[in-house]
Amino acid sequence: MIRDNFHEVKNNIEQACKRCGRNPEEVTLIAVSKTKPISMIEEAILAGASHFGENKVQELCEKIENIKNPLHWHMIGHLQRNKVKYIINKGLLIHSVDSLSLAEQINKDAEKAGVKQDILIEINIGDEESKYGFRSDEVMSNITKIAEYKSICIKGLMCVAPFTENAEENRIYFRKMRQLYVDINDKNIDNVNMNMLSMGMTGDYEVAIEEGATLVRVGTGIFGERNYNL
Ligand SMILES: *Cc1c(COP(=O)(O)O)cnc(C)c1O
Repeated sequence: MIRDNFHEVKNNIEQACKRCGRNPEEVTLIAVSKTKPISMIEEAILAGASHFGENKVQELCEKIENIKNPLHWHMIGHLQRNKVKYIINKGLLIHSVDSLSLAEQINKDAEKAGVKQDILIEINIGDEESKYGFRSDEVMSNITKIAEYKSICIKGLMCVAPFTENAEENRIYFRKMRQLYVDINDKNIDNVNMNMLSMGMTGDYEVAIEEGATLVRVGTGIFGERNYNL
């Protein structure tokens, strides 16, 4: 089942790329395995998955430790400052840098560990009370500050678009993200490279790709519904 789901998502990604004249190799599929057991991750690996996303530090660390295959890991959930140290030298990409104080902590812990940490800046693109991330009108000034941290590399932007049953409704948010990405890139800020745009989930990744996503984060579409009561 995971195998079929994975291939279906890969195929949908290819079709979306075809519709907008993009090379499918520009789009990385992150299989979001939060709450799912290692056995299911292993099934996904057999199907060809190599990028996995988690949203909790402890679960992420346990999975990294227990899976021997060389994988690319992505921290996609809200990150508390006191937990940064547990993930800092694991070579993963942190998508969810949503405050200046978190960036400062990452810089501090990375410096201590002697590593450079790749990050994405999370944008609250729908300006929702319930979501983390910088508002689009405050991104530029904050990126300029984060860019000064020597142990951080800013690689791009990430968003969680509003929940909707109709993916087309999120097109305008994905378009805004792409515009921000281009505007930031045009500023040529030292230590800021806009080459990753992480947007699109099970319900809307095809629209996100049409609007320029380079990383899509798909959980339910690969692993099935999550049960938080287990
Ligand atoms: C859970 C999660 C996803 C995956 O959501 P699905 O709708 O199951 O594809 C993507 N991004 C983030 C930040 C998440 O927390």
